[in-house]
Amino acid sequence: MKHRHISKRYWKDKTTSMAKSALIGAEIDDLINLSIGDPDLITHDLIIEGALRDAKLGHTKYTDYRGDPELRLEIIKFYKEEYDIDLEEDEVFVSSAASYGMSLVLQAILDDGDEVIVQRPCYTSYPYQVELARGVVVDFNTYEENGFQVDREYLESLITERTKAIIINTPSNPTGVCFDRHTLQDIADIAIKYDILILADDIYTEFSFQEPFYPIMKIPGMRERTVTVNSFSKNFMMTGWRIANIIAPPHILAAVIQINDHMMYSASSVSQRAAIHALRHRKEIIPDIVKEFKDRMFYAAERINKIPKISTIYPPQGAFYQFINIKETGLTSEEFSDKLLREAHILALPGNDFGDCGEGYIRIACTVGVDVLKEAFDRMGKLDFTK
Ligand code: PLP
Repeated sequence: MKHRHISKRYWKDKTTSMAKSALIGAEIDDLINLSIGDPDLITHDLIIEGALRDAKLGHTKYTDYRGDPELRLEIIKFYKEEYDIDLEEDEVFVSSAASYGMSLVLQAILDDGDEVIVQRPCYTSYPYQVELARGVVVDFNTYEENGFQVDREYLESLITERTKAIIINTPSNPTGVCFDRHTLQDIADIAIKYDILILADDIYTEFSFQEPFYPIMKIPGMRERTVTVNSFSKNFMMTGWRIANIIAPPHILAAVIQINDHMMYSASSVSQRAAIHALRHRKEIIPDIVKEFKDRMFYAAERINKIPKISTIYPPQGAFYQFINIKETGLTSEEFSDKLLREAHILALPGNDFGDCGEGYIRIACTVGVDVLKEAFDRMGKLDFTK
């Protein structure tokens, strides 16, 4: 990408592992691809049919630039019914997916050189999104020894004059860990003490297997300093519709909307109609999805923990990823993923893709059925780590 016709800001290769692995995977016939967080299940018929009906009724145009008014009301209703949070209309914005939404938020809040503390290991795009918004990434490492929870003193030690925000993601990609109430309170206390924003990526909320999801904005003092990005991609198996919403204090949202006005104007009208049907029918749609993924996660964790030299957190807490500890094999994350690909034809992501503290792990996505997972773990169990 180094070319005089391209801005020097983009000379460094920032292609995600997800994009790279899609290319490698295409070359192996019996490949089991556990690298990508894009579920095998397709969107529920009630959503597809509802969206199609609405498209035929004329919902094919730009919508209100803040989002289809019906969808925004449906989101307000959702937050009231699920979390007993009363949102005002000017706190709700419909964005074209969470990735784009997070980028908009970072552009809206950061001055050049402002620091954003990023919980690591993390979704691979956050650091790039911060840099694209001319911010500086400050790694906040979390470790398995500590259940990948937050060490309050360590977090506090990272705060400087330039700290603008902390990005959190629970349930987490890639660790599958959910922050406990203690951790959420510690983060909230620090955010309040130093007047820092929390950017909460709430994309896997339904996949909370032990405790119901608890939004950090519900903690007293947090509503005015939390920006929540909540996508339909994973909870509703709607990755391709590219639809999400942002909940934020009105002054922040006004800046987000101003930027979006010139970047996208409005999210896809048909996808917004699909999101309305998703929310209206969620009680019929979500339980089956969650059951399927919970079964997969438990099956995977049990099988992984029976394979010598590798292990994972048990019982699974959330999301649909297993962050497998491979330290006992003596291989690095990259070496393990290479061996897995070459000898077992399984594509997984090396843990260091998600931050330096992810070294010694690989991530697999349970985005295939138990039958395919079974084959994957049968193959994995035959790997010889003595050579
Ligand atoms: N945030 C996290 C933590 C993710 O894991 C992903 C996708 O894997 C995204 C955001 C992207 O979400 P969207 O499809 O809404 O852009």
